[in-house]
Amino acid sequence: MKFHEMTFPELRLVSRAGALVLAPIAAVEQHSRHLAVLTDTVLVSAVAEGVERRLPDSVVLLPTLWFGASHHHLRFGATLSATVDVHIDLLCDLLTPLLDDGWQRVLLLNGHGGNIDTMQIALRRLQPRYRDRILGAASYWDLAAAELSALAEGPRKTMGHACEFETSMMLALRPDLVRRDQIRDDPPREDAALRGLYLAEDMKQRTDHGAVGYPELATAEKGLAFLAAAVARTVEVVEALLRRKLPE
Ligand SMILES: [Zn+2]
Repeated sequence: MKFHEMTFPELRLVSRAGALVLAPIAAVEQHSRHLAVLTDTVLVSAVAEGVERRLPDSVVLLPTLWFGASHHHLRFGATLSATVDVHIDLLCDLLTPLLDDGWQRVLLLNGHGGNIDTMQIALRRLQPRYRDRILGAASYWDLAAAELSALAEGPRKTMGHACEFETSMMLALRPDLVRRDQIRDDPPREDAALRGLYLAEDMKQRTDHGAVGYPELATAEKGLAFLAAAVARTVEVVEALLRRKLPE
């Protein structure tokens, strides 16, 4: 089901405990020289729509929230961004009317690195008020981390930015939004001694030209495989959340 294509009497009839609200969240931010700024929104929307197509009777898909927390990209321009605090409030406000309307199972499906901590804090804020609900959040690449890593050909096996993964999926979904002649690898500058450390740096400080990873290896064929893996794993998680006993 698509929330935004239904009427209020239709939505009233949907079982609050028997369905799961799937809320894709994304961003509009610079994606190096070769990808359109809408990339994260295109990708997580495709994963979420793929999940809804597989489970049309038990998933209530929301429209993708494209406004993300992207201040770490601002120095490149081409970025729309909420501050971290506003983004946490935004996610709480996105879900609160749904929770007040009785929906029991919610999954925030994220497509943007800058939203990871904000979505987790939003659910931590909501949980004490809605203890009897299932409140989940994940980035699609984390759900499918093992599958994506096995499919990647480049040295980086985890999601980067405008990387082998994102560029491949955009070649599969929206090749018109990929400037192929501008694709250049942007190898991450990693210091093995710092493993485990969170360094607060912006993308200008972290990258050469706004990417993290190896987009020169991208192909549309791999993009389809990445997307299929992300959809399959998200479906598996949604099915498990639908089976899961509601907390007391
Ligand atoms: Zn992003």
